[in-house]
Amino acid sequence: MLIAGNWKMNLDMPAARHLAGSIRNSLEDPRPVEVVLCPAYAYLDAVYGLVHGSVVSVGAQNMHAQDAGAFTGEISASMLRSVGCSHVILGHSERRQYFGETDASVREKVAQAVLFGLVPIVCVGESLVERDAGQAERVVAGQVRGALKGVAYPGKGRLVVAYEPVWAIGTGRTASPDEAQAMHAHIRSELAGLFSTGDAAHIDILYGGSMKPENADDLLSQPDIDGGLIGGASLQADPFLAIVRAAMRAG
Ligand code: PEP
Repeated sequence: MLIAGNWKMNLDMPAARHLAGSIRNSLEDPRPVEVVLCPAYAYLDAVYGLVHGSVVSVGAQNMHAQDAGAFTGEISASMLRSVGCSHVILGHSERRQYFGETDASVREKVAQAVLFGLVPIVCVGESLVERDAGQAERVVAGQVRGALKGVAYPGKGRLVVAYEPVWAIGTGRTASPDEAQAMHAHIRSELAGLFSTGDAAHIDILYGGSMKPENADDLLSQPDIDGGLIGGASLQADPFLAIVRAAMRAG
């Protein structure tokens, strides 16, 4: 089980430090649940300093596909490694929607992340229009293939996929446990086609989209849901820790 908090463009430095410290102090080692905090770039180093040596690790919310050069405002995989990141969220729907990211650009970034030893958390998910048109499975399968085709399987625990239906992100509306389970099983079969059935079994598939303490148990107990990518509920320690505890129960 893996629970990742996507802090997006929120918090100032004192608040980020306080949140990371509270989460770290509430989790005793060792824990069966992996916890990853994904703050804004400016706080990565500070958050890593606070959680280093605990069960909590640090991830970024995006990165560039090149390692260095004239790319003003961008950040590379090796830079993220140098400030302690182990994970990176790639292809989040907000990146696709507002910053023009495509399956092809996500694939380049995934390959680069893997090359530099970062665990990519690859986000996929359909829009409401696509779901209502009965296209959800086709769209999500296309995103999975588009982001991962040709990428060498990086090994057990080294690749994560997050199913985040766009209509459930930040809306308070959640996929039902049955809807989420059905899509996760579909994603796993796509992964089995790209890699192997055995490899696909070792890829954590997270659910994301208005996960909160009230619905976490039902979602996380589904057989193909291996954790959560949490937005709004990751910005305060109590709800986030309640979701981590639900993941411990789901085992
Ligand atoms: C997200 O954006 O990754 C997310 C899951 O957000 P929220 O939990 O707020 O829906």
